[in-house]
Amino acid sequence: MTDRLKVATMPDGSAEIFRSLQGEGPKAGQPSIFLRLSECNLECRWCDTPYTWRWTRDQVHDDDRVYEKKEWQAELSLDEVEKKIRDLPGSRLIVTGGEPLLFHKRLVPLFAALNDRFTAFEFETNGTIEPTAGIDEFTTLYVVSPKLANAGMYVSKTITSALHGFVRNPKSVFKFVVNGQADIDEVANIAASYDISPDRIWIMPCARTPKDLSRLSKQLAASILGAGFNYSHRIHVDLFGDAQGT
Ligand code: SF4
Repeated sequence: MTDRLKVATMPDGSAEIFRSLQGEGPKAGQPSIFLRLSECNLECRWCDTPYTWRWTRDQVHDDDRVYEKKEWQAELSLDEVEKKIRDLPGSRLIVTGGEPLLFHKRLVPLFAALNDRFTAFEFETNGTIEPTAGIDEFTTLYVVSPKLANAGMYVSKTITSALHGFVRNPKSVFKFVVNGQADIDEVANIAASYDISPDRIWIMPCARTPKDLSRLSKQLAASILGAGFNYSHRIHVDLFGDAQGT
């Protein structure tokens, strides 16, 4: 496989391909292998992986830090990526980012090569790019996270026609990052507009520290329950402090 993938890197320069417990969404707690791709088509002001896309100060983000692309991104061949994944134990692969569906066509031969061992291929996506049939054939779950107004962008950029395709696809669930009641109301409006049933929706606190996670989860729990949505914790924040590679 000669195609190359832009993979996010760890501070020591190694590719961010690692094994951990899934921390969020409907599969939280399951041991999984993560492949974090670099680059994103959005700029969420609270993004917890700005090192995958914030290359210039023109891109808005709550943190002040700008990342040097050549230090935080590595181009690996598909063969190299496959080897690093195979070196880890397990049968669930989660492709995350950044926005991993920017590269969905290049991932088809990788998924095909890994299909002998892997029983689950999942994407964590912002829901603005609809996958083609080639990658959908292998994918077992899309955790689609459309961005709300709290991300700081125009809705025309964050909610696109691709969302209709994800809603039609029974392999999709929807995860929203929220800060308070107004955000939950916004989710309810999106759910009504796009005909997403509440049991396909996970509400996750916008929190990067155990303290904020605890405070916000308690604050939101009753509203989540009242709306019939699911709650998503962020296990990795409690266990590992949101450290990279976890
Ligand atoms: S879509 Fe995801 S990776 Fe991209 S900027 Fe937003 S939170 Fe970060």
